[in-house]
Amino acid sequence: MSLSGLLQYVGRSLQHLELRLAQAAGFDSFGPALAVNGPQILPQSLHSSDEENSEPSFLDSIFWMAAPKKRRTIEVNRCRRRHPNKLIKVKYNIEPCPSCGNMKLKHTLCGFCYEKVSKETAMIRKQISVMEGGPLNTPAVESVVLYENETPSEADKDKRIVERNRKRPYWFNM
Ligand SMILES: [Zn+2]
Repeated sequence: MSLSGLLQYVGRSLQHLELRLAQAAGFDSFGPALAVNGPQILPQSLHSSDEENSEPSFLDSIFWMAAPKKRRTIEVNRCRRRHPNKLIKVKYNIEPCPSCGNMKLKHTLCGFCYEKVSKETAMIRKQISVMEGGPLNTPAVESVVLYENETPSEADKDKRIVERNRKRPYWFNM
């Protein structure tokens, strides 16, 4: 196929597409241009069969996009990608956790310690619910959690005692 033939072909395909778009949008005259991914998603109108040259073409399924006109050098690309505004900022507000040693943000809770404590608290809550046997049997006194080899102090004599069958973790203080 010669170049002029190909250009005519493309022009005809575009005219065809514009006509179909206008029919689908309900315009008799041509409205503003619209880019759509392929004409096969448009409804097939009754007049499309008696239009001139309705043979299927491989150009019908192509979505025409803008393409760069000149190659950008690798220096330009890397200057854009590695511009200081695009890089991740260096953090200076990180310190080791005094309890577990993992790195954490300053002035915030340590996530590792928080997870351990919340898991231990969930275990204690589960044990308490088993002890009570229901949501309405909660005693009116406070609860004290005692680990192995621990005895209640004088102030905790009258409170309800929850005993855990393990050694007290070094990071768990109540
Ligand atoms: Zn920690």
